[in-house]
Amino acid sequence: MRLIALDQLGFRPGHVKRAAVVLEGASGLDGQPLAFRVVDAAGTKRHEGRLTKAALDAASGDVVACADFSALAAPGNYRLEVCGRQSGPFAIAEDVYAPALRLTMRSFSGQRCGCNVDLGGGYRHATCHMDGAFHASSGRSGKLANSGGWHDAGDYGRYVVNSGISTATLLWAWELYPEALRGLKLDIPESGGAVPDYLAEIRWNLNWMLSLQDESDGGVWHKQTSEAFCGFIMPEKDTLTSYVIGTGSEPYKSTGATADLAAVAAISARCFRPFDAAYADRCLAAARKAWTWAMANPRVLFRNPAHITTGGYGDRNCADEILWASAELFRTTGERQYEQAFLEALPDDLAMDEASWGSLAPFAYWTYALAEKANPFVRAGIVEATNEAAALRILRSRENGYGNSLRLHDYRWGSNSAAANDGLLLLLAHHLEPNPAAVDAALANLHYLVGCNCHGVSWVTQLGHRPFQRPHHRPSAADGIDAPWPGLLSGGPNAGGGDAVANKLPKRPPMKMWVDDERAYSLNEIAINWNAPLVFLLAGANSKLG
Ligand SMILES: [Zn+2]
Repeated sequence: MRLIALDQLGFRPGHVKRAAVVLEGASGLDGQPLAFRVVDAAGTKRHEGRLTKAALDAASGDVVACADFSALAAPGNYRLEVCGRQSGPFAIAEDVYAPALRLTMRSFSGQRCGCNVDLGGGYRHATCHMDGAFHASSGRSGKLANSGGWHDAGDYGRYVVNSGISTATLLWAWELYPEALRGLKLDIPESGGAVPDYLAEIRWNLNWMLSLQDESDGGVWHKQTSEAFCGFIMPEKDTLTSYVIGTGSEPYKSTGATADLAAVAAISARCFRPFDAAYADRCLAAARKAWTWAMANPRVLFRNPAHITTGGYGDRNCADEILWASAELFRTTGERQYEQAFLEALPDDLAMDEASWGSLAPFAYWTYALAEKANPFVRAGIVEATNEAAALRILRSRENGYGNSLRLHDYRWGSNSAAANDGLLLLLAHHLEPNPAAVDAALANLHYLVGCNCHGVSWVTQLGHRPFQRPHHRPSAADGIDAPWPGLLSGGPNAGGGDAVANKLPKRPPMKMWVDDERAYSLNEIAINWNAPLVFLLAGANSKLG
């Protein structure tokens, strides 16, 4: 036996509890199922059973058997034993995911730009990137005051498109799982104010997104970054000018950024209304203006202008972003013009897949289905398509040795976010129509991300007994502290290559195509749009899900 892999945080008492046990080569396929037992902290046996029959897992190439100890529901601290070998420690408790939710949400505070950041434990940086200006490609010139935002990923850029899905995912978690998030204490400068910590953290990024809207016409500039990535230095040491970058020609703003802001600001208007009505009004006005611009300019695509080499987030088709903005504005206002735009653009075939920064149609469908005044026939079609997509993932989750819902070709750049976003889809399916199997599969993806994988690693920094250590993340590399900044999700296995380290890895089954190396940005970078669905999953895991 080579490895016992399980969720390093543990399990809630009523949930399914499984571990993956990796057996030695092909011989593991022939033997009788082995016995396992679960022991408590004193070494006393609390549960015993037999592994399932071992099978070859195509994603990892491992021979894997499953230990199912769902029947053990007594809260406590445990280890799993097979043939005298023990797993790492794990807990069974109702609040077992609460620290993880706080840690992963606080990682956004760590990504704050334009202010002092101090997460405790030495994880801090001074005010950064205050030297802002309009780039010639924006159609404007002159200096610009910094207005916050989150550093996007391992770099210090800020991108409206990627901020769009990240912020929306977090706001959706707020709307779906209020009981898990309302009381969340983040210890941020805004704590104790009228706005709950969770929303206050999100507002830091929203304010920056709003600042990229051109007041004169409602369009939104695509991004604010330096011309090229800086070295592996702390953010305050990066003195390159932070430019507002546009498309380089009329109308300078991009459809993707503008429609994304319209959608996010429309959600914000709903979420902030009970706490700060004036801010909600401001968000709604910005959303309406952005939507009008995007409807009038539906095909202004973004490509990096000459001499700009930071992230592009260039989309080939922004129809799904506009569809999403229309649906969010309809859900917020109930107004006919937005519903009409949504229904007119709604495709006959609802291609339902997990959402990503360039593919927002699922968000458009789901938010329409959640709207109070949704047409019941359209809603039923969306629920059906979502159930079908969930059913496929439930099946894959049952077939995978480690319980995740990924297909072999899903192990590409950012595959861990695909697992998290599949989790979001599964939880949405359950939210639209009760589906306990979808909840189990969503949680299985969470288990995969924090330990139940062929590396036996938690892909979230400082979480679990064996978290990864070397994210491609400038502050983690440059701060002089050995352990990385807390709460960050690795991009995860990527069979497609993409950087010098990944390209040199020997070819192995796709889940194995990962190493813990900070140079490997296609394997081990972190990003706000990867952490956001993880927070969503954890918010769900901290809720009743009844
Ligand atoms: Zn900064």
